Amino acid sequence: MAHSRERVVILGGGAGGLELACSLAGRGAVAVTLVDVNGSHVWKPRLHEFAAGTVDSTLSEMSFYMLASMRGFSFEQGRVVTIDPQNRLVRLGPVRSRHGAIEGPSRDVAYDRLVVALGGVTPDFGTPGVEDHAVRLDEKADADDFRDLFVAALLKARECGEPARVSIVGSGATGTELAAHLRVSERSFINDAVTGRKQRLLDIVILEAAPEIMPGASGDLRKAVCDRLAKLDIKTRVGARIASVEADAVVGENGERWPTDITVWAAGLVGHPCLEGLSDFDMDNKHRIIVDARLKTTVDGRIYALGDAASFKPAADAQPLPPTAQCASQQAAYLAAAIPTTIAGGTPEPFEYDDKGRLISLARGGSVGSISLFRSRNDLLVHGQFAQAAYQSIQRKHQWAVLGYLRGSVAIFADAISPTKGPALKLHG
Ligand SMILES: Cc1cc2nc3c(=O)[nH]c(=O)nc-3n(C[C@H](O)[C@H](O)[C@H](O)COP(=O)(O)OP(=O)(O)OC[C@H]3O[C@@H](n4cnc5c(N)ncnc54)[C@H](O)[C@@H]3O)c2cc1C
Repeated sequence: MAHSRERVVILGGGAGGLELACSLAGRGAVAVTLVDVNGSHVWKPRLHEFAAGTVDSTLSEMSFYMLASMRGFSFEQGRVVTIDPQNRLVRLGPVRSRHGAIEGPSRDVAYDRLVVALGGVTPDFGTPGVEDHAVRLDEKADADDFRDLFVAALLKARECGEPARVSIVGSGATGTELAAHLRVSERSFINDAVTGRKQRLLDIVILEAAPEIMPGASGDLRKAVCDRLAKLDIKTRVGARIASVEADAVVGENGERWPTDITVWAAGLVGHPCLEGLSDFDMDNKHRIIVDARLKTTVDGRIYALGDAASFKPAADAQPLPPTAQCASQQAAYLAAAIPTTIAGGTPEPFEYDDKGRLISLARGGSVGSISLFRSRNDLLVHGQFAQAAYQSIQRKHQWAVLGYLRGSVAIFADAISPTKGPALKLHG
């Protein structure tokens, strides 16, 4: 059966997929369907703040059903299982609640063009014990689980007078920012008026396998982050290669043990495990789908991939782009123009990444970062109010892209005045 409008199906309503659905839905030539396993969108770069309790997730959670009717796309809730490129079908498995009850049936969704935006997860590199004894911040349920453990540990620490021990494996943006936000959260549990003394409820250590923290960051940025972590009394340990995680300790390859009450595993990011079984895609060594200069998969010109699910090299001899919301958002904006151009018979320009730099928000420790100016490779180290404002810009752009300018501005204003917001809005890394 012929369709008057080309059916574009987007798998994954995260930082990139949702922005693409909202932008494309306004164009007459396409009928857009967004698929996600969850019924609501959560802005992933704030997961560590939800985990620490410094931001209330309700401010950042938006129902896909509500957005679909507001922005003019269809929404299908379901778990993507496989893609059948011959028949141009996506197979969705049943939706299950957290307790396992089946809430929706398996079904197929037909497409003319498909965009895979299913994101990534934190790999455990086969390390024993991570699955059972560590928390990984891959989705909102993980942040909720962590917060439950964290609150219980701090209540216990306040009662018994012994600080709770949190070990964070991995010193990238997630690990360092989470540590800083936990230190802020600790304040809410300290009741100086009752105890009459300053209590320390939390010992935090960041364990990094590389010889220095924040591998890949510039020396200046690393130093700025280290100084701020030290001021927040957060310990860092480099060269700590982890052999296993036990219920009450993180164990190094050299036998060293870090006793712990809660372990957070924040060591890198790879493509979501579901990507491997989707179809016959070419994958890179981080389980991401290899895409060409126009973000098309190498095996099927009708299927695109973006964001953490995609492996895009800006040049043949370059490394693939890092998994960031900044990158996913730029790729979504690119496809929002490139797909209609292709449907109209044109050839879009190749995707070009504009690296705007890297910013880290360390809550009361302040924001620091290096930003690139005019696509120059010479980074400028920024901190203080300017860094904070820049840090906020990506989520603001996201809110405008998803909600439109009027509603987006109202949401940003509500966010800014909310008493449940933490000291730092989270933006880009
Ligand atoms: C704690 C933390 C802090 C971060 N901070 C920053 C930051 O400061 N700056 C920055 O630029 N980046 C940051 N990132 C990275 C950023 O969040 C990701 O790069 C970005 O979200 C990737 O966008 P995406 O659209 O590719 O995937 P995601 O945003 O991960 O979205 C994937 C979507 O796919 C859905 N999905 C997954 N599997 C299935 C399936 N089988 N079926 C159906 N749906 C499925 C998920 O529900 C989700 O909605 C951070 C990440 C974390 C975890």
